[in-house]
Amino acid sequence: MRQIIIIGSGPAGYTAAIYAARANLSPLLIASSVEAGGELMKTTDVENYPGFADGIQGPELMIAMQAQAERFGTEIILDDVTKLELDGDVKRVTLGNGDVHEALAVVFATGSAYRHLGLEDETRLSGHGVSWCATCDGFFFRQKTIAVVGGGDSAMEEATFLTRFADKVYVIHRKDTLRASKAMQDRALTDPKIEFLFNKQVEHIYGDELVTGIGIVDTVDGTETTLDLSGLFVAIGADPRTHLVHGQLDFNADGTIAVDGRSSRTNIPGVFAAGDVIDPTYRQAVTAAGSGTVAALDAEHYLASIPRKLLARATQPEPATVSA
Ligand code: NDP
Repeated sequence: MRQIIIIGSGPAGYTAAIYAARANLSPLLIASSVEAGGELMKTTDVENYPGFADGIQGPELMIAMQAQAERFGTEIILDDVTKLELDGDVKRVTLGNGDVHEALAVVFATGSAYRHLGLEDETRLSGHGVSWCATCDGFFFRQKTIAVVGGGDSAMEEATFLTRFADKVYVIHRKDTLRASKAMQDRALTDPKIEFLFNKQVEHIYGDELVTGIGIVDTVDGTETTLDLSGLFVAIGADPRTHLVHGQLDFNADGTIAVDGRSSRTNIPGVFAAGDVIDPTYRQAVTAAGSGTVAALDAEHYLASIPRKLLARATQPEPATVSA
């Protein structure tokens, strides 16, 4: 049995791992079966993470965080958690390969998942013109006309990035004011390749094999228009990825996990939550990293407070058992 298992490999998970490892807690971190590093693996320039005066590429930052966590003794497993049993002193974490790992404390830092528009053809044409990741798919739209949906920082960032490839980028936003920060708005608003369509909502996505156009409706007067284009990037925010802990942890009305004040303590002793799963507002790499720090420190205090006999069972990491 472990002292601590950390679930998630974004800035919150890795930072929790760095702190837990430096506190000699020999953490096990469960990343993801697809790719470690979370959403920042899909971004390009990160210009607002302190310490990098010239910015740093998202993947480079995450690989450095992983290396830092491993340097102090974090063990990382690339697999998906399929089941969590959080009640009681010993928490059980089941992985996609069937292995079950036990720990006295769990830090839950699984981040958030991209929101969908909820249109009929959105999933069907996903990967065939509909995308949630400009850095992954932008290259396929050289000299094409495309659109980005959304009015936040993500939409501005995606639109600006996509001008490297596309000839024209529409930004479609359902209101007449943007939610994005002033700096990112200004960059997009002054870009000659970007045209803003305000008060517009995407109602249809057209195309058999590949996207050929979209139908948009004016949110003020209800007029409908068709735009011919080859790509639609959906950048309308993200929701916390919390399905594994529904029915076990308490939640806030906005879908984030409820924690005690400014701590990471959930309603279950020994279970801590960090990063986007508890943060409906800020959701920055640096705030997630700070939140991971809080979780590791809270877990450390918790482990120091439990009976020594119980703690003694977790001092030597044991191989995982395989579930029946
Ligand atoms: P946000 O929640 O900030 O913005 C989502 C946008 O999508 C809003 O404009 C919203 O419209 C719109 N939207 C939501 N649902 C729909 C829908 N169903 N149909 C049409 N439009 C919809 O999400 P972001 O991903 O942009 O940003 C999340 C966080 O990450 C923020 O804190 C942001 O600052 C941060 N971020 C920072 C970056 C950076 O600093 N480099 C880069 C990217 C993100 P409405 O305004 O009407 O609600």
